[in-house]
Amino acid sequence: MQRREGIAETRSTIARLRSATDTADKRPAIGLVPTMGNLHEGHLKLVAACLKQCQHAVVSIYVNPLQFGPNEDFGSYPRTLDADLEKLQDAGASLVFIPQDAELYPEGRDNQTRIHVPGISDILCGASRPGHFDGVATIVLKLFNIVQPDRAFFGRKDFQQLQVLRTMARQLNLPIELVGVPTQRADDGLALSSRNQYLTPAERERAPALYATLQALGERLQAGERDFQGLVSKGRQLLEQAGMRPDYVEIRNPETLQPPAEADQAFVLLCAAYLGKARLIDNLVVGTPETS
Ligand code: AMP
Repeated sequence: MQRREGIAETRSTIARLRSATDTADKRPAIGLVPTMGNLHEGHLKLVAACLKQCQHAVVSIYVNPLQFGPNEDFGSYPRTLDADLEKLQDAGASLVFIPQDAELYPEGRDNQTRIHVPGISDILCGASRPGHFDGVATIVLKLFNIVQPDRAFFGRKDFQQLQVLRTMARQLNLPIELVGVPTQRADDGLALSSRNQYLTPAERERAPALYATLQALGERLQAGERDFQGLVSKGRQLLEQAGMRPDYVEIRNPETLQPPAEADQAFVLLCAAYLGKARLIDNLVVGTPETS
């Protein structure tokens, strides 16, 4: 390479060229972690994954009214902004985005264009919470357009949510990579969730039965059992024995969330159950799905 004014001298060896260009940060520039606040270790895991993979971690905090049903907990959802900001500062988040209703929905919520991802939005949690995933998909697409991230990070704890959003991203050709982050659990196995705060101390003691049930069914699937109906009935029975009211226990194909074929190599066990005032969800993947 010839020396010119303003250009650092590199003798023309491949190694020198590589070391000169390797100093550039090749990670994608912007990662987005959408949240509803009331942050716990699960959210912070998403931020850590985002910072590892991206140069900047943008975290949004917004309790999105569109995804709550009329009789759900929008009004009472825990809002802890000061504590959240402190946690995000400690976690090294680059920027916190706290949008306001008036700016997000200037023409009113009823006049808002909504995203509906057909099929996958209408089953499981979508069947119990009509319109929920339309609200989720709508706010996430708005956040994508506002923040314009290269990657976005979501918890696998909300397995159906992640698959709905992956479907949206694929079908709308979004130039954004969605990353699923493993579920952060308490020592006794309960998946961390803001809604765990609705549990009384006695209910909190019973709550690990949700994950224990999934593990029990998962072991039997792993061992080759394919009586899906029998396994699901057993799961409901275990949840009831633990004092929960099961909403659903299902074994599904992890990509489509449709009922599995016996020959499938991977499955996802999904459940939702009421315990006191809380509706808890959890899931367990058995085998290796193509995307995770
Ligand atoms: P939320 O604030 O509950 O809407 O959650 C924001 C993001 O954090 C979503 O992508 C969730 O899936 C994810 N998340 C919530 N709880 C956990 C957890 N225990 N482990 C990992 N990710 C989680």
